[in-house]
Amino acid sequence: DKDPLIHGIQSKIRVVPNFPKPGIMFQDITTLLLDPKAFKDTIDLFVERYKGKNISVVAGIEARGFIFGPPIALEIGAKFVPLRKPKKLPGKVISEEYVLEYGKDCLEMHVGAVEPGERALVVDDLIATGGTLCAAMQLLERVGAEVVECACVIELPDLKVEDMEYVSHLGLE
Ligand code: AMP
Repeated sequence: DKDPLIHGIQSKIRVVPNFPKPGIMFQDITTLLLDPKAFKDTIDLFVERYKGKNISVVAGIEARGFIFGPPIALEIGAKFVPLRKPKKLPGKVISEEYVLEYGKDCLEMHVGAVEPGERALVVDDLIATGGTLCAAMQLLERVGAEVVECACVIELPDLKVEDMEYVSHLGLE
């Protein structure tokens, strides 16, 4: 009994078992991008939610937050700020390490890209444990921005984040 729009979007996401390693059900959004209607529907749902909310920054997480973030930013009249893996940004950065199932990772943001008091939206394709989104929120809060919400297309059912109230998704699992 899902919304037909949501159903249309979900039907375009390909699930690839055992990629990139055994046991992982990889949610492949590249097949969604091949369908301009479903891709646009996805962007429009977020734009509808966030326009008029006085958001001046959309921060996209490398790599798939770079696909969904910019079209949302342009439509709501916000700037786009990339949150990148280490050693990719050429300017002065602040870094936030976070723990993965096996090992560690890190996100970086250019100093000066976001001003204190700005209202920010964080965008990624998918939330699993929420560790990545939490690191992104930390970066923005460390420079004095207010994170209004985190938006992701897909929410995996193993979600355990306390910050759940900050996360919006399209109801895709
Ligand atoms: P997490 O930090 O655990 O919430 O993981 C979310 C990040 O890992 C996002 O940047 C996703 O793109 C990626 N990711 C985690 N699990 C999957 C999956 N099953 N399929 C595709 N991407 C995933």
